[in-house]
Amino acid sequence: MDKIVSLAKRRGFVFPGSEIYGGLQGFYDFGPLGVEMKNNLKRLWWNWMTKEHDNIVGIDGAIITNPKVWEASGHVKSFVDPLVECKKCHHRFKADDIKGEKCPDCGGLLTEPKVFNILVPTQLGVIEGEKTNAYLRGEACQTIYLDYKNVLDTTRLKIPFGICQIGKAFRNEVTPGNFLFRQREFEQWDLQWFCHPSEMVKRFEYWKEERMNWYKSIFTHPENLGFYKHEKLAHYAKKAFDIEYTASPVGKEMEGIHWRGDWDLSGHSKYSGQDLSYTDPETKENFIPNIIETSGGVDRTFMFLMLDAYTEEGERIVLKLNPKVAPYKVAVFPLLANKPELVKLARQIYEDLRKNLTVVFDGRGNIGKRYYSQDEIGTPFCVTVDFDSLKDEAVTVRDRDTMKQERIKINKLEDYFSDKFI
Ligand code: ATP
Repeated sequence: MDKIVSLAKRRGFVFPGSEIYGGLQGFYDFGPLGVEMKNNLKRLWWNWMTKEHDNIVGIDGAIITNPKVWEASGHVKSFVDPLVECKKCHHRFKADDIKGEKCPDCGGLLTEPKVFNILVPTQLGVIEGEKTNAYLRGEACQTIYLDYKNVLDTTRLKIPFGICQIGKAFRNEVTPGNFLFRQREFEQWDLQWFCHPSEMVKRFEYWKEERMNWYKSIFTHPENLGFYKHEKLAHYAKKAFDIEYTASPVGKEMEGIHWRGDWDLSGHSKYSGQDLSYTDPETKENFIPNIIETSGGVDRTFMFLMLDAYTEEGERIVLKLNPKVAPYKVAVFPLLANKPELVKLARQIYEDLRKNLTVVFDGRGNIGKRYYSQDEIGTPFCVTVDFDSLKDEAVTVRDRDTMKQERIKINKLEDYFSDKFI
């Protein structure tokens, strides 16, 4: 973990937030490489949700909502008791329910009891004394429930269907820490799947497998992924599973697959006074749709992917990231930086490739150092222009993982790379 944190900082993946002022616990900034990788991840998730499934649409909801939302969701009420939190597994317990000093779930040490609310409050308005209280959203999914009726009314979707969203969430975590694992500002990717109550069992199994398959498609070592079955369930839930990165040295949860039943829409119907039921256009049956949620952490996935890809092979440090996720796809070098004819051709190739791919040009140091530097940030391919290139119009392409080199014609490079990063 320490190596990942240091590499992330040193190479511009992740910086501690507001570092020049001593930082702020639980806040991070993504640097030039981090933002490329995070955007790749989000694009993969979004395309998979909305293009591989024809009955899922997306929204991008506001971070601040009417504060009643958080009363309806139970967040305002359920977090005002004095709670203790386990420093190890981060499970929270009402202080009154705990006997002794150890966590009943994992035996870890507990924090002192504190009255706290995990929601991050904020104030709206400009006049002191007349400001209204609101919250930064504690979970991204609530806006999906708020927009469910609007989505139904404005699209041709019928039950069953899904609404997905990627967005920020904020939590006053009692124990922020462990790098990106437990932050106070983070990003979630959520699917809320709306269906008839009779379909819940079948659909739950479907989404559980489907989400696992997606994660397996992007991890370097899919065998490090597993399910954790929750035994203690919310009163409305029949099942809950986490998708875990089992090799994590800190917490393991990456995504929750939750059976939410009619809890959310019934709650919002009650608090808002709006009818959120659904009438089946064919059978005319009227019911509150049931919900299956898949709610994952973008930042946790990012961190687990780095941990999973980090490899030491002798002196060589390689981030064996899936090429679809890697920040740069290709690095282009002139063999010697002081030979203008090599630099010119290398720059031409770089300019051509960067129209469709994220490509980096590197003319510093010797070729060995450049390979080392690209391996460490996970660049899957390096293209070297040498003196032969000036005659045979071909370049050397070197594979990050196998270190094998092959000679490819310059005019075939785009085709060569085109099927590798989709
Ligand atoms: P935990 O038990 O670890 O506190 P949670 O069960 O409260 O997590 P959910 O509310 O189900 O988490 O949120 C869905 C996902 O959002 C989690 O699986 C995780 O990937 C991510 N997530 C939750 N809290 C944080 C956080 N403080 N920092 C980073 N990611 C988070």
